[in-house]
Amino acid sequence: MECIKEREDEFSKLDALTGDGDHGTAIVAAFSAAVKSSEKGTEYKTMLNDMGFAVMMETSGSTSTLLGAFFLGMSDATSGVNLDAAGVKALFSGGLANVRKQTKADVGDKTMMDALIPAVQAMEACSSDDIDELLSTAAAAAQKGAEATVDMVAKFGRARNYGERSKGFMDSGAASWSAMFAAFAE
Ligand SMILES: [Mg+2]
Repeated sequence: MECIKEREDEFSKLDALTGDGDHGTAIVAAFSAAVKSSEKGTEYKTMLNDMGFAVMMETSGSTSTLLGAFFLGMSDATSGVNLDAAGVKALFSGGLANVRKQTKADVGDKTMMDALIPAVQAMEACSSDDIDELLSTAAAAAQKGAEATVDMVAKFGRARNYGERSKGFMDSGAASWSAMFAAFAE
């Protein structure tokens, strides 16, 4: 949460370049709802489910829909016991699968998917049984994916109207999702 909060202005400024400049506020609000819900102390299948619904009920907009879908997909993918390396991979794969139901955006479209998809794929491809290593592998891939959006032309959302002018800076959603993966690794 801290890692997201401290970069709120940066995410909004990136969003303002081709959008309405609300991404920092939106992601902080969505995360605050999730974190507040996660403090109820339930086991993590229920916790992730509650987090997903809290995000969707308490905040609105695409940021909230996608983050909420991510947590709900994670919850669906787990039995709630034995969170080993395979279980962590299943969590994140389930999260991504559910986000894919909400957006057709793929790698190369200059959206948060440019951080999320490579992160989950890198995790799936990682043979380590060490959860810390899985999470740091995912964080590195998310960061690399977010950096790659700098040279992309936006194909989704309001930003797509900017065409070539959407080049030259990172997508705000890819930036915030890579910050989230960095936080998971930490
Ligand atoms: Mg916006």
